[in-house]
Amino acid sequence: MKILVVFGTRPEAIKCFPVIEELRRRPGVEVVACTTAQHRHILDQVLELVGLVPDIDLHLMREKPSLTDITTDVLNRVGEVLDQVRPDRVLVQGDTTTAMATAMAAFYRGIPVGHIEAGLRTDTILSPWPEEANRRIVSVIADMHFAPTAAARDNLLRENIDPHAIYLTGNTVIDALHSVRARLAAAAVSPLPGHPRLRALLDEGRRLVLMTAHRRENWGEGIDAICRAAIQIADRGDVVIALPVHPNPRVAGPVRAALGTHPSICLLDPLGYAEFVAMLARCEVVLTDSGGVQEEAPALGKPVLVLRDTTERPEGVEAGCARLIGLDSRRIVEETRRLLDDPLAYRAMSRVANPYGDGTAARQIADAILSRAGAARTRAVG
Ligand code: UDP
Repeated sequence: MKILVVFGTRPEAIKCFPVIEELRRRPGVEVVACTTAQHRHILDQVLELVGLVPDIDLHLMREKPSLTDITTDVLNRVGEVLDQVRPDRVLVQGDTTTAMATAMAAFYRGIPVGHIEAGLRTDTILSPWPEEANRRIVSVIADMHFAPTAAARDNLLRENIDPHAIYLTGNTVIDALHSVRARLAAAAVSPLPGHPRLRALLDEGRRLVLMTAHRRENWGEGIDAICRAAIQIADRGDVVIALPVHPNPRVAGPVRAALGTHPSICLLDPLGYAEFVAMLARCEVVLTDSGGVQEEAPALGKPVLVLRDTTERPEGVEAGCARLIGLDSRRIVEETRRLLDDPLAYRAMSRVANPYGDGTAARQIADAILSRAGAARTRAVG
């Protein structure tokens, strides 16, 4: 059985590599890993860490691409790959334009699609941001839906997806996290970033607040509010804020201008996944608009303040390990202060079981794919 796995961005690589590794361990399976390289450098950091060399690298990154550019490039170029490779199945992950356009290219050729991290939803289909539409389009096309949580499965059931096509597996990000933590435990060197001021402030006993921000919907006013809040939090004097700056110029420009000179804020280049996981394990509080970080932080017992008005990952909020706090800078400062200064509030959020999986998602996905293929063979013979 030949399976083509297509991914383009850093989070897709993080969430796909456990599945690729698992499928490659299975007899009779040939995996072709194809990257569109929607985000070149930060994607390569992940591939290097886990030793994954894509079989096909489409290098589709352009200067300031529009969504139309990315969609048409992926449709055309992944389409060509499908014609050459002729896989029995395609796997895509999440809600990117790479995932959506790959699913469409496979659909046009009658090739079945499996969707890793299926069923996440917000009510923002009409927003200008593409993620919700992307994941819904993939759900319409896919014939295997790997739902990370029961809530995601229920979303799919509400949309009349065949219950037999939905597999509740947990999120492969937890598999990735376990795998990288095992690599860290085996390595002798400190994976914390080699930023001298960050190291000095941590050695001095400063408490680490980890921040990330990159989402399209926060570009502009949202990023400005996050920066204003970061300055007030850093002004407390007992913390150091570490902020790996996303390379997108709409993020990096304003963040560097607003925070670049604050003595208690360390702006870092995008961290390799191992370094980022080490920072997550070391920090006290996480402030983020990232999807993956919302899932990883609770697995390490770190409270997450979500810098958004809505989230397609309500499980953390419902379980009590995440709070959806929006983009009002006063609220961001207040919620952070509460976690830093109120040990009961901190304990309540940090001792919640992670709702995103147990680290066996990749194994369950591989089992499901192979058993589906086996059943199809039996039907064909019968
Ligand atoms: N991440 C990383 N280095 C960083 C920041 C984040 O490796 O400097 C990882 C993080 O652990 C998570 C993923 O990148 O698994 C999240 O990616 P991002 O926030 O870009 O996308 P999203 O998850 O929001 O789609």
